Amino acid sequence: MAGCIFCRIAAGEVAATIVKRGDGMLAFTDLNPQAPTHLLVIPTHHVPSLNTAKDPQLLGNLLAFARELAHETGIAERGYRVVVNTNPDGGQTVFHLHLHVLGGRPMLWPPG
Ligand code: AMP
Ligand code: ZN
Repeated sequence: MAGCIFCRIAAGEVAATIVKRGDGMLAFTDLNPQAPTHLLVIPTHHVPSLNTAKDPQLLGNLLAFARELAHETGIAERGYRVVVNTNPDGGQTVFHLHLHVLGGRPMLWPPG
């Protein structure tokens, strides 16, 4: 979608540190990391949010991709968090579906 920053990253029009490519998905480092490991997993086509993600297979694939990343980046054993902020109350600021993969430090609960 024109003007969507994550579509532009997927298209190679905006630079990002891409750490893994998959079938219809991509992972790159978050520009403003909240943990020693902070990656974003996105579908390469535009899906605005979890609310509008109609394909359960896509959602499963994104989650499995996040788990692979956790193993490959060495955070899986100690633990990590996968977050999908959805719409304003959920804290979503970029309206292209993305999974945050956070690890490398203990996480707090409840989240803010
Ligand atoms: P959310 O608030 O859940 O929508 O998360 C959006 C995330 O995208 C934030 O953690 C931002 O730091 C991150 N972000 C925004 N623009 C970029 C970019 N150009 N490259 C990498 N991460 C970005
Ligand atoms: Zn997009």
